[in-house]
Amino acid sequence: MKNIGLFGGTFDPIHNGHLHIGQAFADEIGLDTVIFLPAGDPYHKPQNTQTPAKHRFIMTELAIADEPRFALSDCDMVREGATYTFDTVQIFRQQFPAATLWWLLGSDSLMKLHTWKKWQTLVQQVNIAVAMREGDSLNQTPRELHAWLGEALQSGHVRILQAPLYNISSTQIRAALENQSLSDGLIPSSVARYIQQHGLYR
Ligand code: ATP
Repeated sequence: MKNIGLFGGTFDPIHNGHLHIGQAFADEIGLDTVIFLPAGDPYHKPQNTQTPAKHRFIMTELAIADEPRFALSDCDMVREGATYTFDTVQIFRQQFPAATLWWLLGSDSLMKLHTWKKWQTLVQQVNIAVAMREGDSLNQTPRELHAWLGEALQSGHVRILQAPLYNISSTQIRAALENQSLSDGLIPSSVARYIQQHGLYR
């Protein structure tokens, strides 16, 4: 049976922390593939400052090119209106009826899981793989998630990444690019070239 990881994110831009998480989870859980799902353009924010989805999609494509276990989908970009993880998971469930699905996320996203559409149904349909982020601890998990998380950690439906933390965020990268002070090794060189060619994050 196939183990499939689904990795949603804004990826504005994609960075080596994202790639590290994808690889580490693929190793630790035995994922056959990790499908990166760049978020679409926010449909309700006219003043939106996010980089257009088209650029974020291409940067993700460039970043994952060397890892055969990584794949890309525009599933979260092409739907009209709000894009909920719950709906994304239904689409992949239909596409891969026999697979075990894993939703990959950082601990900052886990802390908000109880605000997601139909989260209680969602966590019955997909396992959750959590990468801790700097300063986060499972002790800070909101009360609404306690009972589920306790059980799911026991049963193995939630796995915490064992690999070391990779302390980096897109926010940090954007700030460094604006100041023209981005250190090497934080984003793939193909992504750095694309950013430069298209004058992004100035
Ligand atoms: P931003 O700084 O703009 O919020 P981000 O670096 O968190 O961006 P996203 O595209 O929002 O990147 O992240 C997609 C998913 O990856 C989220 O679940 C996020 O928590 C997780 N993630 C991103 N970077 C890391 C990291 N360094 N360690 C663990 N999880 C991460």
